[in-house]
This record gives sequence, structure tokens and C-alpha cells, in this order.
Amino acid sequence: MDSTGPALPPISPDPADWPTGLAEQVEPLVRRVLAPNPSPYTFNGTQTYVVGSQGDVAVIDPGPNDTGAAGHADTNGVGHVDAILRAIGDAKLVAIVCTHTHRDHSPAAAPLALRTGAPIIGCAPLVLADDGPRADAAFDPTYTPDRVLRDGETLAGSGWTLQAVATPGHTSNHLCYSLRESGALFTGDHVMGWSTSVVSPPDGDMADYMASLQKLYDRDDSVYYPAHGPAVTNPRQLVRGMLGHRRQRERQILRVLEGAPQAIEAMVPQMYKGLDPRLNGAAGRSVLAHLIDLERQGRVARSGETWTIPT
Ligand SMILES: [Zn+2]
Repeated sequence: MDSTGPALPPISPDPADWPTGLAEQVEPLVRRVLAPNPSPYTFNGTQTYVVGSQGDVAVIDPGPNDTGAAGHADTNGVGHVDAILRAIGDAKLVAIVCTHTHRDHSPAAAPLALRTGAPIIGCAPLVLADDGPRADAAFDPTYTPDRVLRDGETLAGSGWTLQAVATPGHTSNHLCYSLRESGALFTGDHVMGWSTSVVSPPDGDMADYMASLQKLYDRDDSVYYPAHGPAVTNPRQLVRGMLGHRRQRERQILRVLEGAPQAIEAMVPQMYKGLDPRLNGAAGRSVLAHLIDLERQGRVARSGETWTIPT
């Protein structure tokens, strides 16, 4: 039986109109279910993608573990995990796949696995470096994959093949997934149309992030489906713009430090004019990520909280 059900209405171009809890067809092999977790970091929420139209399907980024308890009246009466199960319908879930292990992406993997018996396949659990803990409050400590995919490894179902594309930077374990049959790329939080990605050390790494942007620029994916925000229909153009934006930030940091040695706290207001104050912390983390990268290259130095240009 075809699990996609009757034809669905076209997706509204205005993300504010997108319904949570309902499966929307984005292309023949792909549906998305929007979770009810909007925030300044998640745009209008996490998009869970269901790949495959019949037989067996995979779910990408099951999202937050929202049980549909009080406070989520906008989920059409059900929790996000239930909404995913409803979207899967009579099909068999053969893989629960995560791009990375932030709390808005992977916590629903465990309950979904429990209720369906499907394996969790995809990104690695967070690697704890021996130079100090890399996890922060954004990380999902419950994530336990049955199988880790390395760069280039594939996962297939009836009529679909997903290939892992290692894209560290936003997190050290971030993977994108390419859908071979259509040329689409599920980009998680690595590349999104509505905002640049937060790169927060120690797990976030600016040099890795830039290399992962270049890696996507060198590919020829036809469309990106990010975890947050609208599909990206001009992938290479957007990625080129993002690379340019990061290089510009780098130059800006060097200029600010040429004016006077200073701490990140003082740099952020000079660099991010008109920023939503709720994002001040994230901006500071991004500046730190750039500074660490520049420090490795010997282009800046630090003493305590103060950053300088070495003479
Ligand atoms: Zn996210």
C-alpha cells in the first residue's frame, strides 16, 4: 500500500504558515514533519524528513522528544514522535538517521526506536576529546547509534539510497545525507537558508566548518533540505556566499583588533550591529571560533581574555 496517502496541498512559501505535526510532500521521495519547537536558534522548528514513498522508509533528524504534553497544543493534538509515526503509516521504518546530536535533532531517536524496533544509524555519538570535555548544554547525551556511518557510506531502502557526507564544523560529528535518486542533500544545521550556522567551540570548529562548506561547494547537489527553514534551491550560490561571509568576518575581526587589543565581549557590538540581543551569546561563540582558527594560523594571540595582533 502507498503510505503517502492522498495528494497534499502545496507547501506555503511563507514559513509562518507551515503546520506542525503534519506530513508535507516536498518531492516524490521526501516528506517533512515540522516539530513545534520554534526559537531564535531553530527558526520555526526542526524539520524531520521521511525518505521513501512506500515499502520501507527512513527518518532524518527525528527532533526533540516531544511527547505532546501540555504546552504543545499546536501539534494538531499529538506529540512530534506520534506525528512522525502517523507520517510513516503502514510503511516499515528501517533507519532512524541523525545529522548531529544537538537537542533539537536527536532526542526523539530513542523513543522512535523503542516504538518501531528500527535501528539508529548515522552520525557518531559525540567524541570526548582528551583535551577537555567537548559537550555543552546543547548536546543530547541520550544518543546511542546502532551503526555509525562514515563519509561516503550508504544506506538503502526501496527506491532510495542515502549517502553520508561528513561535514564537521557546526559540531564535530555532523553528517549531511545525499539522496542519490533525486540529487537532494539533507544539510542538517551545516547549511540553512534562513541563517548562518552557529559554530561554538570547543566542539564547533571554524576551520572544519569552512572546509565543509568548500566540500559542499565542490559538489553538484540540486537542492538542500535543511533541518530549519525553507529548501535551498540555489545551493552553490548560497554556499559561496557563506564562504565569503566568513572570510569577511575574519577580516573584520583583524580590523577590530588592529584598532585595539580587546576581549570578545567588546568586539561583538562593533561587529554585529542590530543583532537580536538573544543571539549575543551565539555571536560571541562564533567570534571565538574565528579567533581560535586565526590563533592556530599565528595571526592573532591571546593573553587572558584579551586578543591582539602579534607584532
Ligand atoms: Zn538544529
